[in-house]
Amino acid sequence: MSSAGITKDSKIFVAGHRGMVGSAITRRLQAGGYRNLLLCSRREVDLLDQGAVRDLLQAERPDYVFVAAAKVGGIQANNIYRADFIYQNLVIETNVIHAAYHAGVRDLMFLGSSCIYPRDCAQPIKEAYLLTGPLEPTNEPYAIAKIAGLKLCEAFNHQYGTRYVSVMPTNLYGPNDNFDLQDSHVLPALLRKAHEGKQRGEHSLTVWGSGKPMREFLHVDDMADACVFLMENEVDERLFNVGTGTDVSIRELAQTIKEVVGFSGSLEWDAAKPDGTPRKLLDVSRLAARGWRANIALRDGIRSTYDWYVRNGARGA
Ligand code: GDP
Repeated sequence: MSSAGITKDSKIFVAGHRGMVGSAITRRLQAGGYRNLLLCSRREVDLLDQGAVRDLLQAERPDYVFVAAAKVGGIQANNIYRADFIYQNLVIETNVIHAAYHAGVRDLMFLGSSCIYPRDCAQPIKEAYLLTGPLEPTNEPYAIAKIAGLKLCEAFNHQYGTRYVSVMPTNLYGPNDNFDLQDSHVLPALLRKAHEGKQRGEHSLTVWGSGKPMREFLHVDDMADACVFLMENEVDERLFNVGTGTDVSIRELAQTIKEVVGFSGSLEWDAAKPDGTPRKLLDVSRLAARGWRANIALRDGIRSTYDWYVRNGARGA
């Protein structure tokens, strides 16, 4: 049991429960028998509104908070909407963490991203490499906001003795992902392009960049499982990488997606689009030492995500 003494009746607030990660955490909590979840849509409570967040948390006084709300997107969205990414992420995390503290919340989990680590750091990336070098420029505003969020947690822990844990997942994918071709991440974008290319009988599929960058992909259900595992088990550390421990090139990813979708055309490379970080493989030994590891193999995860996309379309966009 967690140091918070979490029970199946504890009130758990999932901020951002409509997003890919928040919805996966919500599903995992429900499957685990947690029956007192606090979920608020953006219409009910705008997390960018400090007063609204404070009022919500003062009224509800949850036992545990997951900060899964964020402004997220792929390489192009991060690179173009730089102001939105830094501003919205700073404000959401500041509002939720500060209001949670003042509502007496002692246990909280803040979700970030592996892009917080320096662009050219040693691989696999250990938690200790944080702030040891310059960031990847295409997503620096987002990364700075996420670093600020984890430092906020660290500072509250230091000054007030809270147990706010930060988790940094590698590239996530799964149900409720964003399938918008301009703003999404690579995996949903290529699934959609392959699917539509197959339907239209096209002969090629355009992939951005050189195909050489390496990425590690984690199914969001594995991510949610890791988050609930860390909520349920007492841990000393306050920062954890979450990943599979293996990566693939974008070329290999595109090939697997072609096979899963059944698209037989060729791959074409759009060199005008950025490659971003050459590699960002996480060292996941800290979490493994606590007893958690990922379960969903990449090809299986791509297959089930493709089934989800065929059933639901791009509504996650
Ligand atoms: P990143 O991990 O933050 O760089 O985010 P992305 O998932 O957006 O991109 C990962 C890599 O996939 C980058 O090297 C992109 O250039 C490459 N990529 C190839 N095709 C696509 C595509 O259609 N959409 C996106 N978003 N990335 C693509």
